[in-house]
Amino acid sequence: MTYRVGLNELPTYDVSEKDWDIKLNANESNLTLPPLVEERVLNRLARIAFNRYPDTESDDLKELIAQNFKVSIENVLLGNGSSEILEKLFFAFGGPSRNIVFPVPSFSMYKIYAKISESTAIPVELETDYTLDPEKIVRAANENDAKLVVVCTPNNPTGNAVPLTSIEYIAKNIQCPFAVDEAYVEFHGLSAVNLLERYPNVIIARTFSKAYGLAAARIGYMLASKETIQMVSKACMPYHINTMSLATAAIVYQMRDEFVPRIQMYVAERKRMAEELAKIAGITVYPSDTNFILIKYAKAKELNEYLENLKIGVRSFGDAPRLENCLRITVGTRAENDTWFKVLKGFVERG
Ligand SMILES: *Cc1c(COP(=O)(O)O)cnc(C)c1O
Repeated sequence: MTYRVGLNELPTYDVSEKDWDIKLNANESNLTLPPLVEERVLNRLARIAFNRYPDTESDDLKELIAQNFKVSIENVLLGNGSSEILEKLFFAFGGPSRNIVFPVPSFSMYKIYAKISESTAIPVELETDYTLDPEKIVRAANENDAKLVVVCTPNNPTGNAVPLTSIEYIAKNIQCPFAVDEAYVEFHGLSAVNLLERYPNVIIARTFSKAYGLAAARIGYMLASKETIQMVSKACMPYHINTMSLATAAIVYQMRDEFVPRIQMYVAERKRMAEELAKIAGITVYPSDTNFILIKYAKAKELNEYLENLKIGVRSFGDAPRLENCLRITVGTRAENDTWFKVLKGFVERG
């Protein structure tokens, strides 16, 4: 058998999971749906027309999203997770000998989407403290005649948000589409959505997987100009999102006020844990506007193994460039945080 050129070089996205007691490695919410939401979802799922292709539910959800952002449903595209949205953006705007600019270190999938769409990745290094210099992005885009720029803010895995003034500066000074990946925006509060009116090249990508705790349903969306939505839709399969997920996400979105207390809890816990971690000698804590914290520690590899043996799963970056000795810890519930913190502190203090 032979396979498509380049396929063999793609890394396998390893999502095999151990039997974790405390799972802090994928930035999921560690809480299941709020009880009132869960009850409505289960009632709704009992009435699904399983014999029909998905259809009307997608209009319901699009309508809700459009209303919330005061845009038309023609400015909304739903995706099978924002992963699908991002991949289709690489397909729609990339391709052979077409350049796509994004910062590094950032979401590891951008490199992979560039490869599978046969686009050329133009990575732009973040500064030493992981802040982003908007001028470097603009220069890389313009000098390379980029067809797409992608910036994740707040950034995964570094945690910091890019100031909106920098996002606007990029939007204004590049000629190509500019996708802003806002997977963690709910934990930060400041969105680039308002730039949509003024800059037709701006595309906002969002997900239900993080703040809304709906990773299982695989729902994301993008907001963009009508033309961009039309063109990117062409890269999607018909019925690319299933009815169960659409119906679930529509209820979650209608009831999103129910999620506010837990988002506040995650933000408060993030602050508390960042402060506690910073008190431990030998640990560098990077500022975070998300539901996770990136730390640097000389014996990160050993610490990761120690946590693993105690069934506490965090994300280790091994020897990844610019992320050597870094661990990304998703913020859990208060009790979970107390547990992993005690274990981590004990390990570091024993040296
Ligand atoms: C989690 C994540 C996504 C993808 O989320 P989906 O589950 O596919 O919606 C996209 N971008 C970033 C930066 C993420 O961390």
